[in-house]
Amino acid sequence: MPSSPDAVVVGSGPNGLAAAVTLAAAGLEVLVIEGAPAVGGGCRTEELTLPGFWHDVCSAAHPLAVASPFFQRFDLAARGVTLAWPEVEFAHPLDGGRAAVVTRSVGETAARLGADGRAYRRLLGPISGHMDQICPAILAPLRLPPRHLGPVIGYGRRAVLPASLVARRWRTTEARAIMAGAAAHGMMPLTAVPTAGIGLMLTALAHAVGWPVVAGGSARITDAMAAAVVANGGRVETGRWVRSLAELPPARAILLDVSPKELALLAGDRLPGRYRAALRRFRYGPGICKVDFALSGPVPWTNQACRRAGTLHLGGPFEQIAAAEAAVAAGRHPEYPYVLAVQPGVADPSRAPAGRQTLWTYCHVPSGSTADMTGRIEAQIERFAPGFRDLILARAVRTAADEEAHNPNYVGGDIGVGLQTLRQTILRPVPRWNPYRTPARGLYLCSSATPPVPGVHGRCGELAALTALRDVFGVRDRPDIGPGRLRSPAAIKILLIPNGLLRAPPAPASPGGVGPPGRPYLSAPLSELRRVAPAGREVVAS
Ligand SMILES: Cc1cc2nc3c(=O)[nH]c(=O)nc-3n(C[C@H](O)[C@H](O)[C@H](O)COP(=O)(O)OP(=O)(O)OC[C@H]3O[C@@H](n4cnc5c(N)ncnc54)[C@H](O)[C@@H]3O)c2cc1C
Repeated sequence: MPSSPDAVVVGSGPNGLAAAVTLAAAGLEVLVIEGAPAVGGGCRTEELTLPGFWHDVCSAAHPLAVASPFFQRFDLAARGVTLAWPEVEFAHPLDGGRAAVVTRSVGETAARLGADGRAYRRLLGPISGHMDQICPAILAPLRLPPRHLGPVIGYGRRAVLPASLVARRWRTTEARAIMAGAAAHGMMPLTAVPTAGIGLMLTALAHAVGWPVVAGGSARITDAMAAAVVANGGRVETGRWVRSLAELPPARAILLDVSPKELALLAGDRLPGRYRAALRRFRYGPGICKVDFALSGPVPWTNQACRRAGTLHLGGPFEQIAAAEAAVAAGRHPEYPYVLAVQPGVADPSRAPAGRQTLWTYCHVPSGSTADMTGRIEAQIERFAPGFRDLILARAVRTAADEEAHNPNYVGGDIGVGLQTLRQTILRPVPRWNPYRTPARGLYLCSSATPPVPGVHGRCGELAALTALRDVFGVRDRPDIGPGRLRSPAAIKILLIPNGLLRAPPAPASPGGVGPPGRPYLSAPLSELRRVAPAGREVVAS
């Protein structure tokens, strides 16, 4: 590879890597530069608490990855990434041992909702039944008219409402809790628009594709993406924070997987003052405080169905969750927060030693908060699973301020990179016909600060890369990113060299060699490969 790449991607989150995969598949020489010691951004897995306990550092549940047209073409399964579906997609425990329980079946879910069963089926049935047509529209550039107008309008006319308005049509605590728990992912008061859209989309995805975890951890997704970049002749360099575009090697295109705040800092006066001022007006949302637990056994949820759920929404009835989210929006730390919990062990036993469990949780807090919410998160779990605290072997806590310190994209701990208001959902990060293109020639933004939505789906990166391919390289056709396009995994030889640079040599490697025992390279985290092969040694796919 020449020392000057065709394109440089700064940041190796799912969007940075989706951009790199797309550019490399088009035959370009691509260099990915990542500041953190490992690739993956918001899609990583580490032993955060105790040895043998593998925690998803950020994303854990992956309905968007399943529904994403990018990942459908990339074909995670063919690259050794296994998704694991829980029996219950998500559950919402309530006091007195009751719970709202969402499974893949709309009918089964509705049947548990008593008086609201029919209304639930009438609303969620058509949306989830057409998710294969609605999702490509949600995950597409909004300037293009959707292909399937009817189903998209059916979803869209409710999506622009606040969750509180849609929940008003339901009477049971359970049905209303489903809407509250799913809509509160948006990190906004439930009276704000478009919280109904967020709640309906996530609930419909639970029915349409499920909310799986990744066997072995979310990092398997981004490891497979990084391996695809390398296999296509690209390079991935970790442990190098970029402070200015001037530090980058000359390249015809630069794609930044960063926040609008960092885009302005890195590019400085390469961007016109008006555009920088617009970037400064971009509004960030509240932060999160995340607590990961190593447990001596499964969480003893009073409600039996909750024991089989991958994801749980904690906080009680609609009104209590609405109050918690309103408090956060007003700059307060709620005494009884809305807590998101994922227990990956119900679908993937590999996350902890036999009989043990990991538990992933977070709650919303005001932007930039340094408050440790462990006590309040534990109290919410204990409320629905008495005896939980006795199982705790170890905890790892990240405040909102810590989140930003680990990843500058999460400004003030805002993991959605920007408030999900209607305006900022459509016009992210600033009003422009093509939001990925900046006014500086050859400079693109490819992070989740651009459309369509936050989450692990790779579409922001792919759409930015397609824009760069058209603008700079005259490539108009979407490159084939499928596994057939790449050299076979068995032929990939990775060199690990001291500064953390990963690259594949031009000549095909001989099979065999070092690798984690019993596992093909493409499904092993890069960190494991680093452990088995000290810097400078060669690792050959097994
Ligand atoms: C705690 C948490 C839980 C989440 N849960 C889910 C979930 O369950 N499901 C889901 O779909 N999504 C979830 N998300 C959201 C999802 O992780 C993000 O939307 C997604 O990772 C965004 O991808 P990205 O590539 O745009 O940015 P990121 O994944 O944030 O990656 C950006 C990368 O750029 C690097 N970088 C930034 N600036 C520089 C620089 N100057 N120099 C070098 N490198 C730089 C960062 O280190 C980082 O690796 C969660 C996020 C968090 C934090």
